[in-house]
Amino acid sequence: MSEDIEHVKCLIIGSGPAGYTAAIYAARADMQPVLYQGLQPGGQLTETTDVDNYPGYPEGINGPQMMIDFQKQAERFDTDVRSGWITEVDFTGPKHKVVIDDGQKTVTADSVIISTGASAKWLGLESEIRLRDMGGGVSACAVCDGFFYKGQEVAIVGGGDTACEEASYLGKLCKKVYMLVRRDEFRASAAMQKRVEEMENIEIMYHHEALEVLGENAVEGVRVINNKTKEERTLNVTGFFVAIGHKPNTDPFKKWLKTDNQGYIIKKPDSAKTDIEGVFVSGDAADKVYRQAVTAAGTGCMAALDAERYLAEKGLH
Ligand code: NAP
Repeated sequence: MSEDIEHVKCLIIGSGPAGYTAAIYAARADMQPVLYQGLQPGGQLTETTDVDNYPGYPEGINGPQMMIDFQKQAERFDTDVRSGWITEVDFTGPKHKVVIDDGQKTVTADSVIISTGASAKWLGLESEIRLRDMGGGVSACAVCDGFFYKGQEVAIVGGGDTACEEASYLGKLCKKVYMLVRRDEFRASAAMQKRVEEMENIEIMYHHEALEVLGENAVEGVRVINNKTKEERTLNVTGFFVAIGHKPNTDPFKKWLKTDNQGYIIKKPDSAKTDIEGVFVSGDAADKVYRQAVTAAGTGCMAALDAERYLAEKGLH
């Protein structure tokens, strides 16, 4: 650990809707929060284009702009927003130690709010990543972006519960949904599978994988292959959704906190508390079910309120 040790009352790790909302509440409660932004300042919303389902923006808002607004609001109340990512923690307590940028700096904190989110998994195709980065019709969130493909034909990759949920969401909006499942069976629960099977405009394509997303600036089709017969064909779609799972960004905390088999932090019911006193969690790092900006923001608020109560009980605030 480095010698440069600073002590803070409230340390927030992560800069998505959960982290910034925690910061707004903590700062307004005079907890003088310090927030480290992590590797992707603004989080997953910086990978999306228009956000139309966050209340308070009647005309919708561009995802990256929304996160700039969140940051400005947190800074308006004097949150100390810093760049840097957390590489190691020591939650022995009562002062919790957090190492930033591989030991460049160490901070101790009376309370820690983990808001490190999760990252969508991608196939890794060059065309997929290129069109995703330019907002050209590649998305990992049907609830966020499905609306833009109303009445159109789209494809979705994946055979888990998320893919089924997203495919049925898209099925209600789109003219046709091609669902690419790489094996001859779903990973999803039988109930979720039945839901997609029963929708007439969803075509389940077993043994199919995407080879290339077509289009220069926007999706114009997807070239797919039947991995059994090796037959290739092109699907004429305008949207390409990837639903092959998420990875919660919780690696540095796993030694200290209980996680489920996928790495999501397990918190105490009806709270943002973890098993360790003074350590709280909010947002997608502990949520594999809802994963929305508004739910992340809500749990960020919960974490700050829980942290404030904790500090007050300990006579630290
Ligand atoms: P998941 O269960 O891990 O399923 C991932 C799916 O994507 C699988 O069908 C997998 O295929 C496929 N896949 C993975 N990599 C791929 C690749 N490179 N190319 C093509 N396909 C690929 O992930 P999830 O659906 O996001 O669910 C995560 C967890 O959340 C699960 O425990 C799930 O039950 C839960 N969840 C629950 C609900 C609910 O209860 N309402 C909703 C959403 C999620 P293989 O099967 O061949 O590996």
